[in-house]
Amino acid sequence: MAEVLVLVDQVDGEVKKSTFELLTAARALGEPSAVVVGAPGTAGKVKDSLASYGAAKVYVAESDDATGYLVTPKVDALATVAGQASPAAVLVSATAEGKEIAGRVAIRLGGAVLVDAVGVNGDGSVDQSIFGGAFSVKSKAAKGTPVVSVRPGAVEAEQADGAAAEETVDLPAVDAAKAAKVTGVEPVVGGDRPELTEASIVVSGGRGVGSADKFEVVEKLADSLGAAVGASRAAVDSGYYPAQFQVGQTGKTVSPQLYVALGISGAIQHRAGMQTSKTIVAVNKDPEAPIFEIADFGVVGDLFDVAPQLTDEVAKRKG
Ligand code: FAD
Repeated sequence: MAEVLVLVDQVDGEVKKSTFELLTAARALGEPSAVVVGAPGTAGKVKDSLASYGAAKVYVAESDDATGYLVTPKVDALATVAGQASPAAVLVSATAEGKEIAGRVAIRLGGAVLVDAVGVNGDGSVDQSIFGGAFSVKSKAAKGTPVVSVRPGAVEAEQADGAAAEETVDLPAVDAAKAAKVTGVEPVVGGDRPELTEASIVVSGGRGVGSADKFEVVEKLADSLGAAVGASRAAVDSGYYPAQFQVGQTGKTVSPQLYVALGISGAIQHRAGMQTSKTIVAVNKDPEAPIFEIADFGVVGDLFDVAPQLTDEVAKRKG
């Protein structure tokens, strides 16, 4: 069976959910092999979880430099393994970093890059959702190894047995790869909340929230649900919430199990970043708000009445 390479997204040995989604998607095309790039000792921490999502093989590229040089060590590792293994495809998560890696690897392999897939099919084609979800497109690489970036949350991760047989990859020591160096990493606001694109629940606030202080009502509901907080562009532009939490065409794309929109009208550019969410709940005081067109559950009402009641109810049920 053809190999399918999956780039593992991990931080300090903790594998992100999107990687398990990639391993699941890879099974439609062949046998998944995971590519782990990290500091020495990383593979030992991540191997078991990769095996439990069907990784037959784990290529390990460990080096003290791996976390210090942005995307190049990952590009080097993927291109090196792909050169040896001739995989059916290379899959990465469609994060900002993943998309950059996909482009660079595709150039190295002389193959095609298929971005932002929401589904991977057995015939090698991928499904993409474009123009804010108004059209669904099927694309297939016309030549070379396809490098596919898959939207986090678009594929449901399913466990499978894998052997995770280890193979070491020696990264080429190319000076050009070290042109840009990471000089510091600082955590940003968001505290203990899950990362926006990884979260299974997202609670977002829009212009209807009215101020930065009042965003507390969004955060409280999010915290009661163990959710990430998102924001519309209007909320970000008004200074209610930091830009890295913006959901939409020019923000992050999310596809959680549950998306709660508070005081968001549902403009096409916002929908582009959230409409593949499995269940959408909207609270808006305007019954004509377009968000209700895509909401599975809608509440016409004042978010400052509804959200605190929801927060209390969730707290009660948690006991
Ligand atoms: P509004 O459209 O002003 O809606 C506020 C809503 O809150 C209204 O429906 C109102 O009825 C409701 N409301 C008010 N008070 C309450 C209350 N107390 N309780 C309940 N409901 C209340 N937008 C994005 O979100 N993400 C993007 O990435 C993005 N990219 C863009 C890219 C381009 C090129 C362009 C042109 C626009 C982009 N936009 C994006 C902007 C987008 O077009 C909308 O302007 C924006 O999404 C509106 O945000 P909003 O729904 O919070 O605000």
